[in-house]
Amino acid sequence: MKLFVTGGAGFIGSCFIKYILGKYPDYKVINYDKLTYCADLAKLKDVESNPNYSFIKGDICDLNLLRESMKDVDCVVNFAAQTHVDNSIKSPDEFVETNINGVFNILKVVKEYKIQRFLQISTDEVYGSIDAGFFDEKSPLAPNSPYSATKASADMLIRAYFETYKLPVLITRCSNNYGPYQFREKLVPCFISKILKNEKVPLYGDGQNVRDWLYVDDHCSAIDKVIHFGRVGEIYNIGAHCEKTNLEITKIILNHLGKDESLIEFVEDRLGHDRRYAINNSKIKKELSWVAKMPFEIGIKKTIDWYIKSEAQK
Ligand code: NAD
Repeated sequence: MKLFVTGGAGFIGSCFIKYILGKYPDYKVINYDKLTYCADLAKLKDVESNPNYSFIKGDICDLNLLRESMKDVDCVVNFAAQTHVDNSIKSPDEFVETNINGVFNILKVVKEYKIQRFLQISTDEVYGSIDAGFFDEKSPLAPNSPYSATKASADMLIRAYFETYKLPVLITRCSNNYGPYQFREKLVPCFISKILKNEKVPLYGDGQNVRDWLYVDDHCSAIDKVIHFGRVGEIYNIGAHCEKTNLEITKIILNHLGKDESLIEFVEDRLGHDRRYAINNSKIKKELSWVAKMPFEIGIKKTIDWYIKSEAQK
C-alpha cells in the first residue's frame, strides 16, 4: 500500500505516519506538507531514514504539485489544515483557502487518478455545541467558528463527490486530541509550558467549556481501522466519552506539576465559544471494533512528562 499523507508534519499527522510505518513494514508513506508555523519535521526523525518514508514540501492549494506528487498512490489521508480556532476568528482567509480549496484540489486529483481511497480528517466541531446528549453521524452540521465552518464545507464537498461521482471517500470526525508534539498554541501544551515557567494560564470565560479528550495514538488506531475496513461514503465519529471542562484540565495539569490554582487567570471569553462538544462513538465501535485504549489519567501524565522533558532540552 502506498499512502499519501497530507499535513504529516503536524501533531496528529506525524503520529499517524510513525504509527503506520511501525505497524506495516511493507507500506510506503509520502508525507506532503507545506511546513506552516506549526509543522516540525523533527517530530519524524525516528522515520526519516526509513526507505519507505519520503517527504515533499508542498501546499494542497498547489494543484500542479499535487498532480505530480499523487501519481501511483493507493490511499490519501488528509490532515493538512489550518487548525487554530483563535486564528480563524482573527483571520479566516487562510482557513477558507486551505481547508476548503485545498480539499477541493485533493478531490480533483483523487478523481483524475481513480485513487482507491480518500480519508478526510474532520472534526466533531462541525456539529456545533450541544448542552446535553450526543451528536451522531446523522446529526445536522451547525459549525460556529470560521474554522469549523471551513471543515464542514469540506465535508459537504466530499459528500457531493461521493454522491455525484461515486468517489471512494470517507470522513472521520474526531474529538479533541492530546499527547506529545502538539504545537504550543493549543490548550494542553500551552498551559503546561506556562505553568512550568510559573506563568499565569489564561482560561477563557468561566472555564466550564466541555471537550471530549482523546489520546492521539487512539485517534491513529481509529484512522487505521477506517482506511482498511471503513465503508466508502461513510462518516465515522471518533471520541472517547472522556468529557472534561477546561477548568478540570487546568487543575489536573497544575496538580501534576505541583502548582496551585493561583496561576489561573480567567480572561474574556473567545467569541462564539462553543460550550460543549460531545459525540456518540458507537458506530466505529460496532462496525470497526475500535476502542480507545489510553486511560485519561495515564495519557495526560505521559503528555505532561513529555513536555517537561522537551522544555528541559530547549
Ligand atoms: P496541526 O495544526 O498540528 O497540523 C496541521 C499540518 O498541516 C501542519 O503540519 C501544517 O504545516 C500542514 N498544512 C497546513 N496548511 C497546509 C497546506 N495548505 N498544504 C499542506 N500542508 C498544510 O493540526 P493537527 O492538530 O495535527 O490536526 C490535523 C487534522 O486533524 C486537521 O485537519 C484538524 O482539523 C483535524 N482534527 C484535529 C483535532 C485536534 O484536537 N488537534 C481534533 C479533530 C480533528
